[in-house]
Amino acid sequence: MQTVDDLHDLLLRLDRQSYRAYKQIKGHYAFEDFTLIIDHVQGDPFAAPSRVRVQVPQQSAEEKPIAGFPTELFRSRSREIALRDYLTRQFDQVASHLREKRGSGKSGLVALACLGVARIASPVQQVLERSAMWVDKQQVEARFVVGLPARGRSILGRQAAELLCKDIKTLVNQALKFSALDADAIRHHVEVVEDADWLREQLASRRLVAFIADGAILPRQSGVSDKPLSQNCVPFRTPEKLRVEFQRPNHGAITGMGISQGITLIVGGGYHGKSTLLRAIATGVYNHVPGDGREAIVTDKKAVKIRAEDGRSITGVDISPFINRLPQGRSTTQFTTENASGSTSQAASIVEALEVGATVLLVDEDTSATNFMIRDRRMQALVAKEKEPITPFIDKIRQIYDGFGVSTVLVMGGSGDYFDVADTVIGLENFEVQHLTKEAKAIAKTYATYRTVEGGKEFGHITHRVPKCKRLDLCKGTEHNGKADSRGPKLKVRDTDELRFGSEEIDLTAIEQLVDVAQLRAIGGAIARLQESYLDGQCTLQNLIEQILVDIEAQGLDILTRYPQGDMAMFRPFELAAALNRLRSLET
Ligand code: ADP
Ligand code: MG
Repeated sequence: MQTVDDLHDLLLRLDRQSYRAYKQIKGHYAFEDFTLIIDHVQGDPFAAPSRVRVQVPQQSAEEKPIAGFPTELFRSRSREIALRDYLTRQFDQVASHLREKRGSGKSGLVALACLGVARIASPVQQVLERSAMWVDKQQVEARFVVGLPARGRSILGRQAAELLCKDIKTLVNQALKFSALDADAIRHHVEVVEDADWLREQLASRRLVAFIADGAILPRQSGVSDKPLSQNCVPFRTPEKLRVEFQRPNHGAITGMGISQGITLIVGGGYHGKSTLLRAIATGVYNHVPGDGREAIVTDKKAVKIRAEDGRSITGVDISPFINRLPQGRSTTQFTTENASGSTSQAASIVEALEVGATVLLVDEDTSATNFMIRDRRMQALVAKEKEPITPFIDKIRQIYDGFGVSTVLVMGGSGDYFDVADTVIGLENFEVQHLTKEAKAIAKTYATYRTVEGGKEFGHITHRVPKCKRLDLCKGTEHNGKADSRGPKLKVRDTDELRFGSEEIDLTAIEQLVDVAQLRAIGGAIARLQESYLDGQCTLQNLIEQILVDIEAQGLDILTRYPQGDMAMFRPFELAAALNRLRSLET
């Protein structure tokens, strides 16, 4: 293997040559106590940055610690993911110091990952499994990007040598060696995450869908910052009747509110914290970093936030449990549209979530179609059932639980009609939770709604769709001289809201449980891989998604890319399904 000195000399020789000459530096280089691997060299200074890795052995040949992480920090799956997450954040911090020191733009940049060409993606509040960092008994591996320095289109060899031979050594020394890190902080990080995973695992045996710890901080700084609200924040407090307690493996007893399986209604005045509570429940499918305020809010992993999303495309979904007899005789058992309405989009999103195994639906009135949610006595009298295609959610919510065991947590401050179908009613007043089930049930008795129940006997069928074998049209727009790009689909992501394959855009703005752009990149990779090797015209959508997740579980996120990349994070089946379901070239 070549050494760091060889790399240094090579870079000095390349000084002032044309940028493409950088291609020669691809390869492995032995540093004093780690290895640098240059996997991909950018073609020009304005292209996406080059991809590199460092591998740091846990011990030297003489058994002296190098990375030196004690095995107890990664002995379980939870701990391993938490440690990798911690190191990713540490790495990001050191890299950002280096960037500040150098004050360089694209050229000379070091970062974990970039959005587009040079917008740096920084870590989110959630602890996810990421491809940026790997730890095992042998070594620590970090993957990142560097912008190889240039003036105009010629190589700046000396700066490149500083970056690759010196800065990277600093990164390794300050971010990837146990001896340089805060041991207590690492242990805390790992234990908090392990406790959260443990709590989430207890939910089912207590017949709960979510747990919100006393003292948790639910509101966020702003619509654009996911950091905890620090001023005038009311910490979460559980009403006596809903209090549950757990003994966590690391941090002992904890109390908080248990949300039971069944139908839970969240009511209360406007601006009193209803949506904030539901959002905290929705992100409770993920773990959070210590200090986030949501470390001990955990939700059933299969909880899916549902919302109306007019304008989305829908392919072959059986929405007939909710919608029938559309104008012009349009099929609702295989409903396809390029431009859904609020109600049809919400119906489709529920059916699609059930199709891939959701066990909890999270619905907020703020983002629901009114005519999908309620149809009161007066409207039933004016517009006969025969003239209304929609069977409202209120007449289906119970059937979804009784028939499939799928619970719903619903924010509904605008209609008391739901009192009849709720098992639990939670009220919010000045951000404090109250238990209102008894009161709501008494009111339901006193003031009947006089509604006619319209939902029929049962929910109806969940049809499992089979995507057609015909290749998804992912390469459209990437053709060169009339031939499809042989490197496969060109994938682009924009924040967490858009995935682009060639000219096809998938709009994911409405998918609230996608929290990191790295998840979107992995989803893009998964779709490309599905198209390449799994689509056979026979497998159901659910099976396809299960298969690819089993393969990722067994072989790692690396199966999604041609060479090891550091910019992916693990996603849930529901978000992969959501992306597929919004692909306009999907056919079933
Ligand atoms: P609702 O859905 O009931 O109308 P929201 O959940 O949207 O209300 O909350 C309204 C505002 O109050 C938001 O700006 C939110 O950040 C803030 N908020 C929510 N919960 C708390 C809390 N516990 N302490 C302080 N502010 C909060
Ligand atoms: Mg609200």
